[in-house]
Amino acid sequence: MKFRRVKGTRDVLPREAAARRELEEKVFELLAPAGFHPVLTPTFEHYELYKRSTGESSDIVIKEMYRFQDMGGRDLALRPEGTPSVMRAVLENSIKLPARLWYVMPMFRQDKPQKGRYREHTQIGAEIIGEGDPQIDAELVKIGFDLFTSIGIHEMFIELNSIGCRECRPGYIKKLKDFLVQHADELCDDCRLRAERNPLRVFDCKQKSCQRILSDAPLQTDYLCPGCADHFSQVKAGLDIFQIPYEENPRLVRGLDYYSRTVVEFKSRELGAQDTVCGGGRYDYLMQEMGGPATPAIGFAFGVERALLASRGEDVFSSVQPGIPLLLLPLGDKAKPYCLDLLFKLREKGIGVQAEFRSGGLSRQLKRADSRNAEKVLIVGDKEIESGSFIVRDMGTGEQEELTFDELISGLVNT
Ligand code: ATP
Ligand code: MG
Repeated sequence: MKFRRVKGTRDVLPREAAARRELEEKVFELLAPAGFHPVLTPTFEHYELYKRSTGESSDIVIKEMYRFQDMGGRDLALRPEGTPSVMRAVLENSIKLPARLWYVMPMFRQDKPQKGRYREHTQIGAEIIGEGDPQIDAELVKIGFDLFTSIGIHEMFIELNSIGCRECRPGYIKKLKDFLVQHADELCDDCRLRAERNPLRVFDCKQKSCQRILSDAPLQTDYLCPGCADHFSQVKAGLDIFQIPYEENPRLVRGLDYYSRTVVEFKSRELGAQDTVCGGGRYDYLMQEMGGPATPAIGFAFGVERALLASRGEDVFSSVQPGIPLLLLPLGDKAKPYCLDLLFKLREKGIGVQAEFRSGGLSRQLKRADSRNAEKVLIVGDKEIESGSFIVRDMGTGEQEELTFDELISGLVNT
């Protein structure tokens, strides 16, 4: 074969495309009544936007961005995540706050390709901008919980943590750093680097030896200031109203630099190594860091591919073509224009129908119908055209019925 797709990219085939549409409809049904409106931002932005907001010490900026120069010499990047662009759009278009926005957009990251991890993937994200009350955090987690329950994520669980604010985080980070320096000899190279650049990220280390040492590390939740402690307990009380099952994970830190206070992940035990379906959290300082006014905000985003994998399994990615609900089989030349007309009369009634216009006798047409995966066929010959009654054959069972046009329509519309 001459051309192959680029490493880490995927083709979305009809079965998956149909599942994506259903998923987006469910998201819309849940988010619209909660006041969320859809937005779309450009696929590429100035590199500086992500460097400043996603953060210089995040994995995304350090090693995953598709960064390039255009012919005008601009330093650009393909969008690796939605929040910075959405916040830029809010600022640039002077969107009135508070605002609730959601998006479905492709994201680009030079991740190591593997199951559930690609170089282009689609995220659905929801952002509440301009509201800082802990009830809002609980509202957003409840929305996520309802959403992932309704799409049937198998073996879902929620992890929750608070990573503090400008008041309490610096003191905690110093304690963590001191701890890491004391144990520097026992940590992996990556963690020694993290200890310097972004100590919180050590909790993401996959090395068992590091995790063993970190089991004694100081935890942010023990060092929250009264404001953050109160915020966190109100979020948890909010979740208790709905009896949402969650686990407090004091080591949950999230990979982006801009989070503060509440962070949350929705996970599925069915996904194996890439078990996070959705990540989110509060980012009360981001807008200000981007040059806007101080504005609290919170959001979550989930990968569509991982959500489908966790709810539908591998089958959803299969290349098997969907069947044809009804296939018209014209027999003879007169039947062809008749069927062409009939196609549109049936479609007008909402019936999914195609016609097999290649010439041939009945047995040949039935073979074709079989190979095209037709569920039902309608046999149309000269006799049927004259009498106005048609034979409908169920290709699965082989059962046949003779129906008039009206009976045909009402029968098909009801099934
Ligand atoms: P991970 O720890 O798996 O790398 P992350 O912290 O980079 O995740 P986020 O930036 O929070 O992920 O992205 C939100 C969601 O988008 C993830 O929970 C996941 O469902 C999805 N996602 C992230 N990166 C990829 C990828 N490379 N391929 C497919 N889906 C992804
Ligand atoms: Mg990642």
